[in-house]
Amino acid sequence: MDDTISKIISLTKRRGFIFPSSEIYGGFGSSYDFGPLGVEMKRNLKQVWWSEMINNHEDIVGLDAAILMNPKVWQASGHLAAGFADELTECQKCKKRFKKEDKEKDVCPECGGKLGQPRKFNLMMKTFVGPVEDEASIAYLRAETCQGIYVNFENIRSSMRKKLPFGIAQIGKSFRNEINPKNFIFRTREFEQMEMQWFCNPKEADKWFDYWKEERVNWYLRLGIDKKDLRVIEIDKKDRAHYAQRQADIEYRFPFGWGEIEGIHNRGDWDLSNHSKNSGQDLRYFNEEVNEKYFPHIIETSVGVERSLFVFLVNAYKEIKGGRTTTTEAVKEQEVVMKFDKNITPIKAIILPLVKNNPKIVAKAKEVYKIIKPKFSCQYDQIGSIGRRYRRADEIGVIFALTIDFQTLEDNTITVRDRDTMKQERIKIDNLMDFISEKLNN
Ligand code: ATP
Repeated sequence: MDDTISKIISLTKRRGFIFPSSEIYGGFGSSYDFGPLGVEMKRNLKQVWWSEMINNHEDIVGLDAAILMNPKVWQASGHLAAGFADELTECQKCKKRFKKEDKEKDVCPECGGKLGQPRKFNLMMKTFVGPVEDEASIAYLRAETCQGIYVNFENIRSSMRKKLPFGIAQIGKSFRNEINPKNFIFRTREFEQMEMQWFCNPKEADKWFDYWKEERVNWYLRLGIDKKDLRVIEIDKKDRAHYAQRQADIEYRFPFGWGEIEGIHNRGDWDLSNHSKNSGQDLRYFNEEVNEKYFPHIIETSVGVERSLFVFLVNAYKEIKGGRTTTTEAVKEQEVVMKFDKNITPIKAIILPLVKNNPKIVAKAKEVYKIIKPKFSCQYDQIGSIGRRYRRADEIGVIFALTIDFQTLEDNTITVRDRDTMKQERIKIDNLMDFISEKLNN
């Protein structure tokens, strides 16, 4: 694996962002757990996306639909048909499955057994609902969150008295029995999606598609993603998802190559017309002004939480050769700074008593910690030299390092060190919250 990725995997484990799932039992295929810093970062990312959709746009409302749905939904959406399937060959001896393109000869690359004929294997994860495990009780873990939105279209339109165009946003878990989960958290079997479905007049679908494509690219740029590592590819008809009339993939240049992070799709009337047909409910929209009834067209923006979190990790990772800390004890070694955007960084501030053996300084530091903690995610660290503590803070992207020293005892001021400029300012403790709020909100 690429060197940068190995370093990020190691850093995120060592510093409490991401752990392999069930590690004490040897892990569990491509499942990951988000540790104390990972969960903060994930929550921040979801919050930033949610407020972008709900607060910064007019006419988008939220939804939290169930993961388990009536299996007829997946029949109607086409997920149970061959389309949502990988073509695989199965080893007749060890029963392992391989993607058709991954097998070179007719023998199993793992055990040398004979490989069978390629077959389609569905990616939906099955489970049973109720006490009996039979055909009638089969249900599926949803493979995408958007179906919950489509089947609630009429509930939301009527309860919220919405007129076209309007959007429905949702964040939630999805599951796909991916045959080739790979590249750390890029492709996993359990993941979260942030999806927004925009319902509009068919005549305006192209205009809205272009609008959302631009909006979504700008979102990444505003959060500090380097422009040169981002590209948008409009997908040709032959390669588009079966439901898409237009499709644009937003891609990021990962160290292992370009990879899709978000899909923008013009899904036409595929979803609402199919759900109408299959459910017997009329999901058309009635436009009173022109006395017309039609299926709204849907523009979808769909991004994976973990996949985009991976983007923010890679984008933030900066190695500074020879170090940048200039305190006297600084060891001139390579330093790592995670330059996360201030809204996404898991820890905003760290409280550092200059020395740990002066009870007055320690008491003051704890007092500052108590002031900051209810409002901003922060840590308290009194172990090691101040230079080392700065470096540990930089490595997890802490924006403000707050040092309590001897002068604090005299004038109630502390030094605030900025992660990116390393500039230090003395701020009165009384003004600290205003200072931090102002910097974080700008
Ligand atoms: P891919 O081609 O990478 O499998 P896709 O085209 O199937 O993705 P969509 O169904 O359009 O993806 O899903 C939208 C987004 O959900 C993707 O852009 C990605 O960010 C995320 N996503 C999809 N599958 C996975 C997965 N297995 N693991 C993590 N994130 C995923």
